[in-house]
Amino acid sequence: MSDTPLNQSSNRPQKDPLISVIVPAFNEAGAIQTTLQNIAIQLAKLSPNWEIVVIDDGSKDNTADLVKAVSTKLNTSLVRFSRNFGKEYAITAGLEYAQGDVVICMDADGQHSSELLTQMLEKWGEGYDMVYAVRQDREVESQFKRWGSKVFYRAIGLGGQIHIPRDAGDFRLMNRKVVDALRSLPERSRFMKGIYAWVGYKSIGIPYTPLPRIHGESTFSRLRLIGLAWTGITSFSVMPLRLASAVGGLLALFAFLYGTSVVVDKLFFDESVPGWPTVIASIMFFSGVQLLFIGILGEYLARIYDEVKGRPSYIVAEHVVPQSKALVTRP
Ligand code: UDP
Ligand code: MG
Repeated sequence: MSDTPLNQSSNRPQKDPLISVIVPAFNEAGAIQTTLQNIAIQLAKLSPNWEIVVIDDGSKDNTADLVKAVSTKLNTSLVRFSRNFGKEYAITAGLEYAQGDVVICMDADGQHSSELLTQMLEKWGEGYDMVYAVRQDREVESQFKRWGSKVFYRAIGLGGQIHIPRDAGDFRLMNRKVVDALRSLPERSRFMKGIYAWVGYKSIGIPYTPLPRIHGESTFSRLRLIGLAWTGITSFSVMPLRLASAVGGLLALFAFLYGTSVVVDKLFFDESVPGWPTVIASIMFFSGVQLLFIGILGEYLARIYDEVKGRPSYIVAEHVVPQSKALVTRP
């Protein structure tokens, strides 16, 4: 633990837990130092034992250099990825590198208020293993996001295997038990919202309103959000496959009934059914449905393909620890 001025200002007893804050950062040069400073000030009030771990997710700007510049002063280590792997992987790496008895995940853009850390630790003290922050500001979001999140939670809820709390993101506290459980999951397709819910444990939500970004814009475009939602659904639910089977079954039944009626018409009423257009329309309709469902099958196949390749989830290009940091290794 470094002896920064921030740490000296704290007079908590030594038995205090080691608190790790992990911060995924992608092109956050405009915000990272302010964010780290705010987090450090808050942490120093809470415990003499704390560390920050920034995961630089392949930033194109000088985020990594700015983190290195304050590394020792703010007891911050840096894990720099070889390229942009995505936030889910940055968090996965953060959980791997953080050594804390509790680990808290916070964004680098200053949207997650460090004031909430006190409340999160209080809840942890009450015996909760995981404390997640729940967004309260959905009404100010665009129609697309509000509607989209509703559809998403409905769709993933249909699978019925896990319950993903609504509007809870990555801003959360996890104790060592939860972190070790998360680390034990070997899958490469990391849909964190689902993974947090899957491991279970005693969890509670606390409300929060995200602050405005210190700098820049969100990197999660509509397309990226749709992609993430689809990954989530196909990673945590087999509902699309069941839906495909159900629709296939219904269409087959419909085709059988229709075929029977054509035969009956011909045999008993001598009416041959005219209808090129009907034939063409139904061929096109059924081909469309088939292609759609082959596509859904392909999605699951792609997940399996990703898993069997067995590649590492991310590659670390550089790991920088604060100079005065004693190297603690977890057993
Ligand atoms: N982020 C990341 N990798 C990415 C995209 C984003 O590590 O590929 C980080 C980003 O630096 C920020 C957090 O994830 O700390 C949330 O990103 P952003 O603010 O763009 O998303 P939003 O606030 O809209 O969820
Ligand atoms: Mg943000």
